Amino acid sequence: MHCLRCNRELVTGQKSVALYMFAQTVGIKPRQKSMAHRISFCPQCSVSLAMGPPPEGALNMAAWDMIRDLVASDPALNRAAWESMGGVSGLLPATGTDGGPRSAQPGGYFEF
Ligand SMILES: [Zn+2]
Repeated sequence: MHCLRCNRELVTGQKSVALYMFAQTVGIKPRQKSMAHRISFCPQCSVSLAMGPPPEGALNMAAWDMIRDLVASDPALNRAAWESMGGVSGLLPATGTDGGPRSAQPGGYFEF
């Protein structure tokens, strides 16, 4: 599985958001059901999408609403996004956190 937005590989057990989609006929006999498709987003893309502007297209809009619902209802998904961001920033040099001079970080905080 790959994140639909950033194409990052999502291994089994990794935190992600899965969207399942299938089509089904209504009021038509015999009732037909399409194969179910699974679309995955990594936590960062989920949060980023939810915070971003509404996408174009009715289907995208429906998916956006669902992701926003998840992001808004519990902070766990936000935490997962921050955890994976921490994993990335952990690869950067630890300036200021290794007991060295802090002059390299005048602000002392991150700005987004
Ligand atoms: Zn992603």
